[in-house]
Amino acid sequence: MKNESCKNDRGSFKKSIYQGIYNSLVIIMAALFLVGGFIFKTNAHENEFIVYEDYYRKNDQALTVSSDNKGRLKKTAYLTFDDGPSNRTEEVLDILKENDINATFFLIGNQINKSTKKTLKRLVKEGNQVAVHTYCHEADCIYDSADTYYNDVMKAAKRIKKYTGVDPKIYRFPWGSVNGYIKNYRKDIIMRLKKEGLEYCDWNVSGEDSIGSPGARQIINNVKSNYRVYNEPVILLHDANARKETVKALPAIIKMYKDAGYSFDIIENRNKPCQWKPY
Ligand SMILES: [Zn+2]
Repeated sequence: MKNESCKNDRGSFKKSIYQGIYNSLVIIMAALFLVGGFIFKTNAHENEFIVYEDYYRKNDQALTVSSDNKGRLKKTAYLTFDDGPSNRTEEVLDILKENDINATFFLIGNQINKSTKKTLKRLVKEGNQVAVHTYCHEADCIYDSADTYYNDVMKAAKRIKKYTGVDPKIYRFPWGSVNGYIKNYRKDIIMRLKKEGLEYCDWNVSGEDSIGSPGARQIINNVKSNYRVYNEPVILLHDANARKETVKALPAIIKMYKDAGYSFDIIENRNKPCQWKPY
């Protein structure tokens, strides 16, 4: 009996050690979970300022399937260039002209001046579309409030009109239309600009050419990764001094779409601009 109880005591002693280890492990795991959760939450908060492109680009698919007058599926690609005008704009225009196609340029107002006037006139004359990509493009100067964004876009629109003679009808939010900066006044600003005859336009295919310094091959592969997902792809590329590789990649991107049966057009002729999220 003694032995038995001793055994039992030893057993329960052993058991309580195991229980202790188990409890400690549970506490450590819970602590890790909480700390992990906190870190994840912190990161998630930081990530609010990054575009939710992958999630929202799906929304556009259903909206953009259209057909020609014989009921055949029409496949039209919309090349869009952000951040111009730049020293590369003429090179981009040359390639578009060689291919007999047009694109839409989302321009930064403060880069439009006498030295870029000739290029912009050419851009419009050759059938390309001018659109607004804000006046100063810096998050802290455009996204402070609904008023600052509204004023900045209107200022850019006026400048574009002054230098090209064209009233822009489309604008694009830097970092896309779903970004943390505008979340408190997103609907407000979209409605205000709509009253001015301005619609926003996102994208559903991206060359990712402004993320780091990708080479031409990488940019082509980025577009290729989902270029046939849409019948009306809106392709994001950049027209900026540093984007030499984008210019290099452009002929291959155009060929890729042409070979897949797509024609090209400007956003103005799309049945609606690409918008990630209804407002
Ligand atoms: Zn931009």
